[in-house]
Amino acid sequence: MRVTDTLSKKEMLTAVAPIKDRILAAIRVVLPDSARTYALHEPEFAGKEWEYLKDCIETRMVSSVGSYVDRFERMLEDYTGAKHAVAVVNGTAGLHIALKLAGVQTGDEVLVPALTFVASANAVAYCGATPHFVDSEERTLGVDVRKLKDYLTSHTEQREGRCINLATGHVIRAMLPMHTFGHPADLVGLLAVAKDFNLALVEDAAESLGSTYNGQHTGTFGLLGVLSFNGNKTITTGGGGAILTNNAALARHAKHLTTTAKLSHAWEYQHDEIGYNYRLPNLNAALGCAQLEQLPVMLASKRELFHRYKTAFASVAGLKLIQEPEQCQSNYWLQTLLLNSEVACQRDKILKATNDVGIRTRPAWNLLHTSPPFLSAPRMDLAGAKSLSERLINLPSSASLSARK
Ligand SMILES: *Cc1c(COP(=O)(O)O)cnc(C)c1O
Repeated sequence: MRVTDTLSKKEMLTAVAPIKDRILAAIRVVLPDSARTYALHEPEFAGKEWEYLKDCIETRMVSSVGSYVDRFERMLEDYTGAKHAVAVVNGTAGLHIALKLAGVQTGDEVLVPALTFVASANAVAYCGATPHFVDSEERTLGVDVRKLKDYLTSHTEQREGRCINLATGHVIRAMLPMHTFGHPADLVGLLAVAKDFNLALVEDAAESLGSTYNGQHTGTFGLLGVLSFNGNKTITTGGGGAILTNNAALARHAKHLTTTAKLSHAWEYQHDEIGYNYRLPNLNAALGCAQLEQLPVMLASKRELFHRYKTAFASVAGLKLIQEPEQCQSNYWLQTLLLNSEVACQRDKILKATNDVGIRTRPAWNLLHTSPPFLSAPRMDLAGAKSLSERLINLPSSASLSARK
């Protein structure tokens, strides 16, 4: 048996052991089985998944036609409070279309946090636009609104209702904040900046299904918002996503663009613009309906898991467990530690010690401005994001790890 598995709570408190051992001991309080592997995030199928999938196969409605797509969209509208939901093949495709509908064109810039998954920046590039990287704050793990406001004030000017980047001369058309690991960004602050600087607000809510800010669902604050149902997200359709909006015309256009821009006709193939084959197959939507029925239970499980980690880490010095921001409910998609700066140098040792014993911890993404395709993309000072990315560690977070099971 490893020494770290036998540390008593008292020994953890005295902080004599290296931080990697103290972290491992705290995790073991929550995830005690040293014989098993704990994935970072696993899907859970405890509802009517089989029933609905079987129905698709029996009725041969597995592909682009079928009632589960409509049903899934209506369920998403009911759950999130968005007036319209358009199901798509994955979250990245959803971001691409949402940005297009927000008016993002070739040559534009879009404000994107450097601390996000690569899909956010890729979707900007698919529009022929350039991500313009912005900093993140520790309080929400999202865009640092105050810093962004100062930056835009000194680096842009308004010309004919457009926000012009003085350094490049390009239009900054939109901003794409992201709700990191499910924790809502400062949406009220972001809405104010969007209004002041004439930017369209599109939310990358891929990680935050079930998270609210002032009781309102993330993804419904901006002109458009995008969810993901990838296999590692809170609920999954295998692959899938959805565009949320309160604007009926944008919703109709989103549906049109994601279904090859085909005009409705019994037999004719008429397409009135360049469309995309981005629709969600009925089979995936069926899975989504069954998953969405269980979302409240999963969210309760994930919250319970957070509280157990919180108790386990309460006496571990040198770090904190990320908690939902004030006025917010987080879905707690990924449980997250933030190391203090003094122990940030220990991060890789912590990742190794935990992964070596089958506990699949993971660091945050490498900042996107360091990724080869985006090396020359415009950016503000990114000190906050850099510090966060060096200190964040995600812990196994599956709903099934809850003691409620
Ligand atoms: C998962 C994710 C996406 C994209 O989702 P896919 O469905 O995998 O295409 C986009 N942005 C963020 C921040 C994500 O975490």
